[in-house]
Amino acid sequence: MAYTDLRRWVRKLCQRFPDSYWQEKDEQEAYPEEFVQAMTEAGFLSVLIPEEYGGGGAGIREASVILEEVNRSGGNAAACHAQMYIMGTLVRHGSPEQKERWLPAIARGELRLQAFGVTEPTAGSDTTRIRTRALRQGDHYRIRGQKIWTSRVQFSDLMLLLARTTPLEEVEKRTQGLSLFLIDLRQAVGNGVTIKPIPTMINHQTAEVFFDDLPVPVENRIGQEGQGFRYLLSGLNAERILIAAECIGDGDWFVERATRYAKERVVFDRPIGQNQGIQFPIAQAYAHIRAANLMRWRAGELFDQGQPCGPEANMAKLLAADAAWEAANVAMQTHGGFAFAREYHIERKFRETRLYQIAPVSTNLILAYIAQHVLGLPRSY
Ligand SMILES: Cc1cc2nc3c(=O)[nH]c(=O)nc-3n(C[C@H](O)[C@H](O)[C@H](O)COP(=O)(O)OP(=O)(O)OC[C@H]3O[C@@H](n4cnc5c(N)ncnc54)[C@H](O)[C@@H]3O)c2cc1C
Repeated sequence: MAYTDLRRWVRKLCQRFPDSYWQEKDEQEAYPEEFVQAMTEAGFLSVLIPEEYGGGGAGIREASVILEEVNRSGGNAAACHAQMYIMGTLVRHGSPEQKERWLPAIARGELRLQAFGVTEPTAGSDTTRIRTRALRQGDHYRIRGQKIWTSRVQFSDLMLLLARTTPLEEVEKRTQGLSLFLIDLRQAVGNGVTIKPIPTMINHQTAEVFFDDLPVPVENRIGQEGQGFRYLLSGLNAERILIAAECIGDGDWFVERATRYAKERVVFDRPIGQNQGIQFPIAQAYAHIRAANLMRWRAGELFDQGQPCGPEANMAKLLAADAAWEAANVAMQTHGGFAFAREYHIERKFRETRLYQIAPVSTNLILAYIAQHVLGLPRSY
């Protein structure tokens, strides 16, 4: 499926936000508010909300096309992608009351669900070792602890938070005793939640978040107490597929810019693209992007059919992130010194696409998953 109309609509919107827009935001380290607002108003960020709650009722493949086109245009979907991959947790595991309370308002663009608090400074990739505690006290939980790298938290109304409700020492399996909460940041910030932004090498609005006895009503817990890790896992395949699509968008953008420049730039009386040393790496990167894209569509197909797709979703993210990074390096090399000049935008996208080797899951952790769960090798961590 080509999703031609959808691509055209997203491209049209993205044309209103050219390279200069993203460069300005990058230099000012500012949130692309106008872009996110336009995406919201167009209904693109609520496509995964079921129609009965006012959303688009679309599948993961359509959602992935939207994010791909944003990155393909030279923009950065990271400003708003979390709403798409967090959504599934609420849709699949939220109670009818929670869905009624939150989903229509998100679909109307009145509320943003853009923040996702999992990572902690000490636990790192070992999620089951998180220390943020939620202690039940009557009809409330009291939350204490700290998250790190909670992106977009200052620009979101709601945050999905993973916390321990039973200490690690008291559970049989370390994946037990974790619970998910929907935090209403509008009330929480200043009343138990403190946000400390982290300056980073990309314009990503990420932060440390401190919880100091934050009261959270029991009705804000998603699903059963202690089952949060299972709910989290059910959303990760969606996340992998969506990030893979963004990487495909990045990869195609780099290849297009490299190709264009290689045709225009004349050195030694010939376009540099006439040299095999320039054209072969571009062609190689292009082939790797197309191959990764096949895995992305396969993973999306399985996901939309409700079939297991862990290996395909992880491989799609791995291959697409690698292909985008290869294309980024090729575009850098092709542009020579001008790659470093901000006005060519290569250096900005180069920095941005590097993230996907590390977040939302690092390459090594994906390889460990494939080794253990697909190949049956001993667990290495
Ligand atoms: C810009 C940015 C935005 C982010 N946004 C969010 C967000 O919104 N919400 C959120 O919850 N998190 C977010 N993260 C966190 C991100 O998911 C983590 O950084 C990532 O999962 C890696 O965890 P870590 O940084 O703790 O690395 P660590 O776990 O400390 O790992 C460091 C390195 O060691 C490797 N490593 C660790 N253990 C093993 C092993 N057993 N075998 C082989 N290699 C290993 C890793 O692959 C990695 O390369 C964000 C991060 C960044 C940088």
